[in-house]
Amino acid sequence: MRASLPEAGEAWPELKARMAAMGGGDVDWRHGRAAVYVFNAGEDIEAVQEAAYTMYMAENGLGPSAFPSLKSMEEAVIGYGLSLLHAPEGAAGSITSGGTDSITMALKAARDHARRTRGVTGPVNIVLPRSAHLAFDKAAALMEIEVRRVALKELLADPAAIDAAADGQTVMIVGSAPCFPYGLIDPIGELGRLAEARGLWLHVDACVGGYAAPFVRLNGGDIPDFDFAVPGVSSMSADLHKYGFCAKGASTVLFRSAELHKAMIFDFRDWPGGRMVTPTLAGTRPGGAIAAAYAVMSYLGVEGYRARHKQVTDAREIIEAGLRARGYQVQGRPQLGLIAYSGMTNPGALWMKLRERGWFTSTTSEPPGLHLMLSPVHLGVAQTYLDDLDWAAKALGDTPAPAGEAARYGG
Ligand SMILES: *Cc1c(COP(=O)(O)O)cnc(C)c1O
Repeated sequence: MRASLPEAGEAWPELKARMAAMGGGDVDWRHGRAAVYVFNAGEDIEAVQEAAYTMYMAENGLGPSAFPSLKSMEEAVIGYGLSLLHAPEGAAGSITSGGTDSITMALKAARDHARRTRGVTGPVNIVLPRSAHLAFDKAAALMEIEVRRVALKELLADPAAIDAAADGQTVMIVGSAPCFPYGLIDPIGELGRLAEARGLWLHVDACVGGYAAPFVRLNGGDIPDFDFAVPGVSSMSADLHKYGFCAKGASTVLFRSAELHKAMIFDFRDWPGGRMVTPTLAGTRPGGAIAAAYAVMSYLGVEGYRARHKQVTDAREIIEAGLRARGYQVQGRPQLGLIAYSGMTNPGALWMKLRERGWFTSTTSEPPGLHLMLSPVHLGVAQTYLDDLDWAAKALGDTPAPAGEAARYGG
């Protein structure tokens, strides 16, 4: 039934208690039972997020001259992002409301840039590996841009297939670092060479990996070049509110040069309200999200991020080894916090059974399987997950075939 606004307001103490009770049926993310939606890096970070968010909750990032505070915090965060992702001198970017916003704005910039510098007119297209995020399709739908999704090669973007699908009307090609469905990093170096050879705009979607991969690499992970270190990369999306452990409503969209960034910005004056400059999709921009991003990044520093990402890597390694030992097939060779696996007969039933033990994860469709996006907090419950998986598989009579040679050696 539709609710109507009550005549009389409710006292805050009762209302607050009632709202807390409303969360009773939610997934228990604080104890690490959510391996999607929430990135739990510990109570200290949550406290910093909350305090910083509320400090600047009323302030509006739409007005940099009214709020030089938010402007300098945004500049700092963008600087952190550009340096971590090896952007050259003169690179630029903005904080957006999330990955979808970052991708939408990068696509707008790429399209406008192609129109202006390459004289592209008429219908345009983008070429994506099949594993790219649906945010590209949403952005393309908004702008009436054709999407060409091309087949993967061994679960990764296939530069030859992307080359074959691109033409004179292509305004962007895409690689992910990593893709969401498998958590695998596409061959960005090869895509960069293709982009350079053909004069194409390569966007690297590092929404989920942009603030993870640099630290995993510092921790010793053999992460291939995936960022602006690859000369053909024109733009990147990297979410603060995922593995940047910042409060929700914060991502970064980054460009190799200020000129490319400028193609994103909407500068308008042809209405009675006078000139208005809105860099991102949003008009009003929550000051809290910007302040919390600045606070968390400054609070953690490189050392803090390295320590948190070590926990994520350790959790993934425990779970990955456990899955392989049980005979499940882990998709590819994950290097960050995401892991997708198959080998059960009925992923949906297994998902439901694990839900009984509190777990909330994702599923995949190609191949049908389960999907985990791990946080630092999961290090403490990695073994519990494997135990609960055994319990659920046994209850369903859906245990995988015993580990063969291929599974044991990571094939
Ligand atoms: C999460 C994600 C996005 C979209 O980000 P939102 O913040 O959910 O809008 C885009 N690409 C990848 C690879 C992602 O994981």
